[in-house]
Amino acid sequence: MNQKKLEQLKKKLSQEQLNICFLKGTEPPFSGKYTNNHQPGRYLCVVCGQELFTSEAKFDSSSGWPSFDKPSQNKNITYQDDHSLGIRRIEVLCKNCGAHLGHVFDDGPTHTGKRFCINSLALDFQPN
Ligand SMILES: [Zn+2]
Repeated sequence: MNQKKLEQLKKKLSQEQLNICFLKGTEPPFSGKYTNNHQPGRYLCVVCGQELFTSEAKFDSSSGWPSFDKPSQNKNITYQDDHSLGIRRIEVLCKNCGAHLGHVFDDGPTHTGKRFCINSLALDFQPN
């Protein structure tokens, strides 16, 4: 990312958001504003505005983070192996801008079997 783009993002996003999206941080559980959001709508990438998840895919995981059983469109996200913390996890990123969103686990309770565990701070909710 070039310097100009970075300066623009610093104006638009909070320090916490920059930390999560670009330094792969994680918000504390139960701190995010979308964890218990049940409104119908779409969740966009807070950095670039691309649609990532919809409220239909959201479920209560009691993990403390917004959880989804599938992305809005597979082509909008990308995955990366993450070996930090001494365990193997799969990182979820916005395919358009590369922002870190969270992780995906194979213990989802719905038919997809997936649990996308996403930081509220990486998302921008648009009610229908
Ligand atoms: Zn993005």
